Amino acid sequence: MMFRRIRILILLGILAAAAGLTWLEQSMVRAWRGPLDVAVIPINGDGSAQAADTIRALKASDFADIGAFLERETARYGVKLSPAVQLTLLPEGHEKPPAPPRDHSVLKTVWWSLKLRWWVYRQSGEWLPQLGRIKLFVLYHAPQEGVPLAHSLGLQKGLIGVVHAFADSRQGQQNNIVIAHELLHTLGATDKYDAEGRPVYPQGYAEPELPSQRPRREAEIMAGRLVNAAGRLVMPPSLDQCVIGAMTAHEINLDEGFRRRYGSPGG
Ligand SMILES: [Zn+2]
Repeated sequence: MMFRRIRILILLGILAAAAGLTWLEQSMVRAWRGPLDVAVIPINGDGSAQAADTIRALKASDFADIGAFLERETARYGVKLSPAVQLTLLPEGHEKPPAPPRDHSVLKTVWWSLKLRWWVYRQSGEWLPQLGRIKLFVLYHAPQEGVPLAHSLGLQKGLIGVVHAFADSRQGQQNNIVIAHELLHTLGATDKYDAEGRPVYPQGYAEPELPSQRPRREAEIMAGRLVNAAGRLVMPPSLDQCVIGAMTAHEINLDEGFRRRYGSPGG
């Protein structure tokens, strides 16, 4: 039937456009030619007064150490960007993003990621998608004894992060570690910890040239944790004690910035 064909053609067109935009956005942010355009959208994750107070008190400067971290770490790989991040704190969002499926069904995950991208597009309130903008939705929760936060996530397709954070000013610096981790996922970085949450050696360690048993003071950002002198697996206090390791640097295309700066042998 004619209509059916037209419908299929339109659908294929939308999918092709989405794929094209995804590719374009990825090549924009991974080129490291200018500061990353990052928007933070706070959301009250549990409806608590504590989360509401935290959100009311938020300032863009509360996230400044994320930019400082990226500037310092990308410079080690030859990228000279100052600032490395242009961060905008947007007004509070009043809707929660669709939750990821509990099981790992591929179809459900694909469907959820499409729903999430559509949700993000609607939240923007714009007709045209803002190409190259990394959108980080930070859901604040009042800390509860013994209750862990839901898993945060960062998606390369659509440049979307959904971060679960503690509504507690003393947790601000560690919240920023999680935010930076999810931000790097949107640029293509992969996790570097195992099923028990322990860093994978050597790529999940700071100073990977040292033996794995040696205690560390710094963590690789995509492992997010380090084993300290007491043999305990801990989160570092802030992004000052986090590094971007060589494998993560490769995944987020920092080699490109490195090549541009130093050239490569033979051209
Ligand atoms: Zn991760």
